[in-house]
Amino acid sequence: MKYYSTNKNTPDVTLKDAVVKGLAADNGLFMPEQIKKFDPSFFEEIQNLTFQEIAFEVATKFFGEDIEEATLKEIVYDTLQFDCPVVKVTDSIYSLELFHGPTLAFKDVGARFMARLLNHFLGKQEKMVNVLVATSGDTGSAVANGFLGVDGIHVHVLYPKGKVSDIQESQFTTLGQNITALEVEGTFDDCQHLVKTAFLDEELNKKLVLTSANSINVARFLPQAFYYFNAYARLKEAGKLDGKELVVSVPSGNFGNLTAGLIAAEMGLPVKQFIAANNENDVVFEYLQKGEYNPRPSVETIANAMDVGAPSNFARILDLYDHDHAVISDKIKGYRYSDEEIREVILKVYNEQGYLCDPHGACGYQSLIEYLSEGEIGVFLETAHPAKFTETVENVIGKNKLTLPEKLAEFMKGEKHIEQMSITYADFKNYLLNSTN
Ligand SMILES: *Cc1c(COP(=O)(O)O)cnc(C)c1O
Repeated sequence: MKYYSTNKNTPDVTLKDAVVKGLAADNGLFMPEQIKKFDPSFFEEIQNLTFQEIAFEVATKFFGEDIEEATLKEIVYDTLQFDCPVVKVTDSIYSLELFHGPTLAFKDVGARFMARLLNHFLGKQEKMVNVLVATSGDTGSAVANGFLGVDGIHVHVLYPKGKVSDIQESQFTTLGQNITALEVEGTFDDCQHLVKTAFLDEELNKKLVLTSANSINVARFLPQAFYYFNAYARLKEAGKLDGKELVVSVPSGNFGNLTAGLIAAEMGLPVKQFIAANNENDVVFEYLQKGEYNPRPSVETIANAMDVGAPSNFARILDLYDHDHAVISDKIKGYRYSDEEIREVILKVYNEQGYLCDPHGACGYQSLIEYLSEGEIGVFLETAHPAKFTETVENVIGKNKLTLPEKLAEFMKGEKHIEQMSITYADFKNYLLNSTN
């Protein structure tokens, strides 16, 4: 299948090129030229399939023309070595827990899939493939863990010194093997600048194979559709959807996760309504209300993975619905919450339902409380484990109420290996030329 750019100013590319390049030459985002639909009968039997089986069916619709069946199956099954269960919170609200992967956030699904796909496309060449990733915290750990131990690929994680949490830092500095962590004497923007300059450096690109593992990559973005299908199957299996309609709320920042859900719906998944739940970074909320899109600098909130002022994947949403505001504001309902409101929700759900939300999931939960009517079942995406935000969450529910999951505790015990890096590009280039071949 071919992939076109949302800017429509550059020729279509193959899946391999879309994955290796990440971003289209005209700075647009890649989209599949066709979204294949399931036969309605698929949804009558879907509850009889496992998560891995469902994901393989979905992956075949996306990638079946480009990857041999056995290989694709291996990539899907190997990616999904953990569950994404649907957990009851109230009689009509369920949490789709996406935090059972290695770094306890939903980005594990896309990052693990992309690592395996990249290895399939590039792993057999003689030269080492270098993945460069700049992170403000969470992306670095998902990408590093996703690529850990994958042959023929070396990951270089750049992060701003002193600006990521201890938990986040330990998740990408303790791995060793094919992962190198570079602590940059600067800000996240400085890290991003070093990476972008390296991609544009012709001399460097002649000598080394460089690629990005940005969240806009189709290999990270499309596999996120898997767990929407599985959520439907598991609710159907439990008899919760009999005569009821499904509403799905997605805590959104860069809007990749929500866009994958919208694509699942285009493939036939029966969802009555999608909700975009935001914190105070509300440019898309504003667009949905008024039809005006005004990206602006992000503001800091306690749901910091959604602190995005110019969401990349909004271009994909516009493209999917032909830039039609009436259609888009019908397909997506917007809600937004202040830090104060998020804290209140975490406490209320904890006290009344005995369920602990992280700050992102809390936005999703509350939007369902406000939206749902009789005859509807709501699912919100619990995008990260609350322990990833221990300080915020314990400030709300009380000290020492949270037990660190085994996986996080393991990371904290590991020894950190960190290389220092200045913000001078020449230093970074030297490092790349000397550390890799
Ligand atoms: C990345 C992230 C989000 C936002 O997801 P998008 O796909 O960028 O909208 C929400 N919650 C958590 C915990 C995240 O890490």
